[in-house]
Amino acid sequence: MVRDISIVDMPDGYQGEGFFASKLSDVVGLARKNSLWPLPFATKCCGIEFMATMASHYDLARFGSERVGFSPRQCDLLMVIGLISKKMAPVVRQVYLQMAEPRWVMAIGACASSGGIFDTYSVLQGVDQVIPVDVYVPGCPPRPEAILDGFMKVQDIVGKESLRRRNSEHYRKLLESYGIQ
Ligand code: SF4
Repeated sequence: MVRDISIVDMPDGYQGEGFFASKLSDVVGLARKNSLWPLPFATKCCGIEFMATMASHYDLARFGSERVGFSPRQCDLLMVIGLISKKMAPVVRQVYLQMAEPRWVMAIGACASSGGIFDTYSVLQGVDQVIPVDVYVPGCPPRPEAILDGFMKVQDIVGKESLRRRNSEHYRKLLESYGIQ
């Protein structure tokens, strides 16, 4: 039986007989982007699409992310899925703060990204009002393909991120703008 097995691309580098040399940041990026541990913060209907994304047909495990965690300290990708009420906002923020660096955030669906159709006094008009977001996935609800597309965009960011970006002035100012030290 012929199996079509694909492996991740090698980072740029120099190779010769018996050696391969590359940048440490590229190797770390390669490892990180293919072993993201998601923390799904799912509150509403979009969560069902996430379940489909994890199930066998779409199979997020193909990207090295089958290990879904509910302990913030063991996860590096916060997936905010569904509507966040203003009462719930401090909880999302606390979960984010408990995650260690480096950490990334996806806002999945219209509600998490912008409040969606719920333009009311009790609904947070986008999770980026309390924490910085790296990738937004549009849709009400987004199909699993859209979630996978957003996930791959996060992988792209993670793979190219310098080891020191999280200590950069730009990132420090971004966190400061959210009142995060
Ligand atoms: S974006 Fe639509 S499907 Fe997703 S949680 Fe909001 S109302 Fe539900």
